Amino acid sequence: MTRVPVRDDLRALEGYHSPQVDVRVRLNTNESPVEPPAAWRDAFAAEMSRVEWHRYPDRAATALRAGIAEVHGVAPEQVFAANGSNEVLQTILLTFAGPGRTVCTFEPTYQLHAHIARLTGVRVSETDRSPDFTLDLPAALAAIEREQPSVTFLCSPNNPTGLVEPPANVRAVLQAVTSLPTPGLLVVDEAYAQFAGWSALELLDEDTPVVVSRTFSKTWSMAGTRLGYVIGPRWFVSELDKVILPYHLDAAKQIAGRLALRFVGEMEERVQMIVAERERIVRALDALPVDQVPSGANFVLFRPRGVPGRKVWQGLLDRSVLVRDCSSWPRLDDCLRVTVGTPDENDAFLAALQEVLP
Ligand SMILES: *Cc1c(COP(=O)(O)O)cnc(C)c1O
Repeated sequence: MTRVPVRDDLRALEGYHSPQVDVRVRLNTNESPVEPPAAWRDAFAAEMSRVEWHRYPDRAATALRAGIAEVHGVAPEQVFAANGSNEVLQTILLTFAGPGRTVCTFEPTYQLHAHIARLTGVRVSETDRSPDFTLDLPAALAAIEREQPSVTFLCSPNNPTGLVEPPANVRAVLQAVTSLPTPGLLVVDEAYAQFAGWSALELLDEDTPVVVSRTFSKTWSMAGTRLGYVIGPRWFVSELDKVILPYHLDAAKQIAGRLALRFVGEMEERVQMIVAERERIVRALDALPVDQVPSGANFVLFRPRGVPGRKVWQGLLDRSVLVRDCSSWPRLDDCLRVTVGTPDENDAFLAALQEVLP
């Protein structure tokens, strides 16, 4: 058998693991537990029947960008959209990272920041957070000064911990990357921003190297669509436009995203329902033998006391409740992450957890 060796720098790399198991209660990937509004589905179907399928889609996704820009009160030239915010992050890294450069992350955080970075051939410098998972600001600033990163990632609320990054920390990190001899880019991943109190969008301007990424996968109930975007200075967006493959956003996706923006009110109602359910889960966990991390997202990270996390995960799975098993991830010994579901799903999770815990 003839095999072709992969790139030397990819040989040791493992793929991204997130098992898709068939269970009754699926609370492992931070999706929305409810579908988008029926009126969105109808409007989407109507527009889909009018697509000119023999033509390439609008390469610049003009209407979608304009719609996103309007929601955020920025110019369309400040918006770049792609196939999920993962493709947004990949495009940022292909444009501003790559061989010979360095990316800084503060761990634990979203695994794909470091993973996608490595795929682009950049060196990744990981700095530990404090034991309570908050940013160790002195260590972060020292790492930036030492590593001179081209791209630095923050994630707020952070996945998988749920912690919201205080504005003062984001400002301090931004100040540090801005004052490097060669300024670096700060990417604030806000996949869960609507569940939290504040957004780094308020820090954006043409002269500041900070950008904010968002996704339709979580708050918009549209993980099936694969659509995400980033907002930043015009110079930043025009560089990404050179790197992305032509016509990367298909016609269906552009329609789906543009129409979703008509339902901002419904999205916000879903977010409120999920935040209320999150608070209910947090109160229930308070009464159980677990330690939990304060969450500003649609999930809660917790660590069972006196029993291995993996055993609790298996016990939940035996009761057809799937949560994310982070127990073997670096720095997350014994931790599990539960996504907030519908009230019924959350009841099922809490009942199963009570049975499984000692
Ligand atoms: C879920 C998630 C994303 C979303 O990625 P998509 O590709 O848009 O589905 C991005 N960042 C973080 C931190 C996430 O948890």
